[in-house]
Amino acid sequence: MEYQEEDYLMLSGIQHFSFCRRQWALIHIEQQWEENVRTLEGKFMHDNAHNPNFREKRKDILLVRAMKVFSRTLGVSGECDVVEFHRAEEGITLQGYEGMYYVVPVEYKRGAPKSYDADELQLTAQAVCLEEMLLTSIEKGFLFYGETRHRAEVFFSDEMRGKVKDIFEEMHSYYKRAYTPKVKMKASCKQCSLYNLCMPQLCKEMSADKYVEEMIREELS
Ligand code: SF4
Repeated sequence: MEYQEEDYLMLSGIQHFSFCRRQWALIHIEQQWEENVRTLEGKFMHDNAHNPNFREKRKDILLVRAMKVFSRTLGVSGECDVVEFHRAEEGITLQGYEGMYYVVPVEYKRGAPKSYDADELQLTAQAVCLEEMLLTSIEKGFLFYGETRHRAEVFFSDEMRGKVKDIFEEMHSYYKRAYTPKVKMKASCKQCSLYNLCMPQLCKEMSADKYVEEMIREELS
């Protein structure tokens, strides 16, 4: 199945979704992300045309920063921090450059590696986009963590690719139904940036109607 451009979701949302489906829905459904790929593609052309640092050549590696990507099969669009093109015996050709190249996406994170696989999923989704756009296959990429100054290698296994596909299918189904899952309290709620907005304790214990009822009763007593 192929998605239409107007149905594309934000690629980076996979990080929110894998942390908590409700957090993703609060950000992406209730706050209505509207930037479609057409806007992105327009911006891509504009940004790249006006950004002198867009491309950088280091020996046999060509670096492209802030590369806009999309996938019709996943129905997503987003941006890669850095895409490295390594000169090799086999691979793709690049306009204006001699030789063949293989592709390596690199994502930069300010913090340290997470206890769950959100970053790996995001990088795998980027790789799927690049494969579709550049008609190539990508074996691995890297996650660079600012806090630990560590570059972690990520292999794009069939299992990770399958997981990415399943997650985006689920996200599309939620988005189509404008469905925000109910609160499920968990230990990680304490680290959630939307904790106050989500009000997990309140939602868990009583419905909004019941809450208003309680407030009125308190006011009158
Ligand atoms: S507070 Fe908990 S349930 Fe609510 S969005 Fe955050 S992680 Fe999800």
